[in-house]
Amino acid sequence: MTELAGVVGWPIGHSLSPAIFRAAFAELGLDWDYQLLEADEAALPALMDAVRAKGYRGLSVTMPCKAAVIPLLDELSPESMALGAVNCVRRDGDHYSGHNTDGAGFVDSLRRDEGVDLAGARVVVLGAGGAGRSVIRAVAAAGAGAVVVVNRSPDRAHAGAVLGGSVGRVGTVDDVAGADVVVNATPAGMGEDRRMPLDPADLHEGQVVVDLVYHPARTPLLAAAEAAGARAVGGLGMLVHQAAHQLRLWTGDDPPVEVMRAGAERALAERALADGDSR
Ligand code: NAP
Repeated sequence: MTELAGVVGWPIGHSLSPAIFRAAFAELGLDWDYQLLEADEAALPALMDAVRAKGYRGLSVTMPCKAAVIPLLDELSPESMALGAVNCVRRDGDHYSGHNTDGAGFVDSLRRDEGVDLAGARVVVLGAGGAGRSVIRAVAAAGAGAVVVVNRSPDRAHAGAVLGGSVGRVGTVDDVAGADVVVNATPAGMGEDRRMPLDPADLHEGQVVVDLVYHPARTPLLAAAEAAGARAVGGLGMLVHQAAHQLRLWTGDDPPVEVMRAGAERALAERALADGDSR
């Protein structure tokens, strides 16, 4: 019998998740149907009723439903509880649990794809929204020596720094020059946006600069990092690895990470062609 899964949120027409998961299911020979399940917060309770009635095995959850789905679940992982956000739902029997795999995906993308060890690293995170918070918590758990949170609104900066525990603190863009790892978790540089979230003069050799933005693949920040001799890492790795963690939670199988990455890259290339986008 075909198992059901899907991505929940709105808008999700541009989501790369179907391409990533369908590639994985095909590679693993699993008869799973991964669907687009459009819902905003208001439509979510009815959608979750339908999900339970039809027995969906797994859901990827994206904006604006990551917090709104919480009261509709039976159980939360410690990670999703601490972040107040769920990006993955799993069914066990008739029981639905919420998880958050974003932070683990970020750490895996650095460790597995780039060979970067975060132990003792001074990390500056620009942005303290959903993505920034998951990165802050995960890099602190991975043993970072300092996690400095730089954010436009001070209250979110403070709340983010708390997630860094004993190594978390609020900082400013002046902290970038002294960082080993710099992470952009703001939308600056996304799509047609050519802004940078920092002063490129502060980037230098020896640093790892990660842009969570993955479209375009080469953002203005990554171009500036390369020009400064720093290591430039795009956001696609995090996206693929967080999906890999979701797949493992749903199926228990070892995720075919490279096949999933190729699925995402194919979908991005198709989108660029459709947009007449040559970047
Ligand atoms: P979010 O929850 O809306 O948070 C956005 C963050 O960016 C907030 O900290 C916000 O600051 C800040 N920000 C927004 N506009 C700004 C501006 N003009 N100047 C300075 N700061 C600004 O969004 P999110 O879900 O965290 O996503 C952030 C970025 O990460 C997006 O580009 C998204 O595509 C990317 N992302 C990538 C992955 C991946 O797997 N690679 C996963 C999730 C997200 P305030 O707190 O002051 O509003």
